[in-house]
Amino acid sequence: MFFLNIIGIFMETKEIKTRVKVCSLEELGEEDRRLVEKAKEMTRASYAPYSRFHVGAAILLANGEIVGGANQENAAFSSGTCGERSACFYAAARYPGVAFRKIAVAAWTRLRRPASASDADCFQESPISPCGACRQALLEYENAHGPIEVILYGAGKTYVLPSVASLLPLCFTEF
Ligand SMILES: [Zn+2]
Repeated sequence: MFFLNIIGIFMETKEIKTRVKVCSLEELGEEDRRLVEKAKEMTRASYAPYSRFHVGAAILLANGEIVGGANQENAAFSSGTCGERSACFYAAARYPGVAFRKIAVAAWTRLRRPASASDADCFQESPISPCGACRQALLEYENAHGPIEVILYGAGKTYVLPSVASLLPLCFTEF
């Protein structure tokens, strides 16, 4: 690559664009709202004594089932897992080979909130987005079975993306 750059052959700039629909929860269709509500509900299953950041995820499968997950932390930090991967691996283990159609993610924390705030008032204002490892894990199922719509809930606004790949450009897909 260095050699090619020196002599100026094949040098170009590529632009990567991601289409994100920005809306409120109320503007989502009924199916999507239900999935977000499940993701919010799943935050109650979070085990997050270290970060105190409670993440819930819900996956709608092609068979109509909704499978939830939540972050599970561990004193040995790297042994824990995120809410998205918790839902992803549970769905794949519970319903092997069934396509994922959509995933919704929600999170709340009491950090930097007034003590009087209820848990329901502590959902993140901005959409919570999956970490790189979760994007890569979800991509595996997307590549096998087709696009997975990604719904990222925030109390102030919600993002809807058409696929996991749109969250992970230049992704690693094969070796
Ligand atoms: Zn993650």
